[in-house]
Amino acid sequence: MKPPAFTHHACRTVEEAAELLDSSEDAKVISGGQSLVPMMNLRLANPAHLVDLNFVDGLGGIDAGSGTLTIGATARQHEVERSPVVASAAPLVAAALAHVGHPQIRNRGTVVGSICHADPAAEMPAVLTTLGGHVTAQSTAGTRTIDAGSFFDSYLTTALAPNEIATSVTFHTPNGSSGWSFEEVARRHGDFAIIGVVALLTVSDGVVSDARLTVFGGGATPVRITAAEQLLVGTATGDVDDALLARAAGATSETLRPSDDIHASADYRRHVAGVLVTRGIRTSLDRASTSA
Ligand SMILES: Cc1cc2nc3c(=O)[nH]c(=O)nc-3n(C[C@H](O)[C@H](O)[C@H](O)COP(=O)(O)OP(=O)(O)OC[C@H]3O[C@@H](n4cnc5c(N)ncnc54)[C@H](O)[C@@H]3O)c2cc1C
Repeated sequence: MKPPAFTHHACRTVEEAAELLDSSEDAKVISGGQSLVPMMNLRLANPAHLVDLNFVDGLGGIDAGSGTLTIGATARQHEVERSPVVASAAPLVAAALAHVGHPQIRNRGTVVGSICHADPAAEMPAVLTTLGGHVTAQSTAGTRTIDAGSFFDSYLTTALAPNEIATSVTFHTPNGSSGWSFEEVARRHGDFAIIGVVALLTVSDGVVSDARLTVFGGGATPVRITAAEQLLVGTATGDVDDALLARAAGATSETLRPSDDIHASADYRRHVAGVLVTRGIRTSLDRASTSA
């Protein structure tokens, strides 16, 4: 199926793109087009103007700073997945990207586009929620940063205003005593997740000092499981036993309010999320013990 007619704008600067978004009522940014174009083909989106960022110089960077990893708006998912900078600064990002669609999708799709699209079953929004960080947004009014914790509003909805362009996303990078895990269940590798869990645990002097557990595919946005996180923080790693893991799994299932759909029931999602949280905690603790 072909999309409805639209005008394509090959912008050369972010300022030009921002002017276009301001002056046209019905304009949308296009980055990789791997979500927007299928939605247009299915008549779920019908923008009159596509504001294309792919011709803007300087938006494709992948840069590690002190405790941060910043990925520019036009950096393709596959470039990020294979980047030695990412492998060293935030291997969780690369591991999660291997689950995003198929190589053909990742050759065009962008990390920033995935975060802006905000599909609740997508991997990158959950990784940003877990690692923390921010999105940098630019419009004709200027530039602002939006904290990861307040970026995802609802299903396919973010804190970006319609006239804002996300020029980059910055992830906080874990320190040496942290361990991470990425777990997802999908019908086939490359499908959107039925349910998934991203975990990041920090261990100081043998005690869990910070815990971040995020479920994706279990609600309208990535969901932090704070009740399970609180069970872990302050616990000696040697005391993280089967009983504690079972309580963390229970807290996860109780927190989530997923929907039934053609792929799985809500009960199945709640149950599997609990199982994945226990696996995620174990793997993260193992990684933390070998990385310190
Ligand atoms: C067959 C198939 C399988 C897929 N499987 C998965 C999967 O398993 N997991 C997964 O996460 N994704 C999956 N995707 C989606 C893919 O990852 C997309 O690339 C991604 O969701 C969107 O990135 P994009 O760069 O293609 O964005 P686009 O399609 O260009 O844009 C998507 C939306 O974000 C907005 N947007 C994009 N960039 C910006 C920006 N810089 N500033 C402001 N708004 C912006 C657009 O206006 C649009 O509303 C799949 C896609 C296909 C076609």
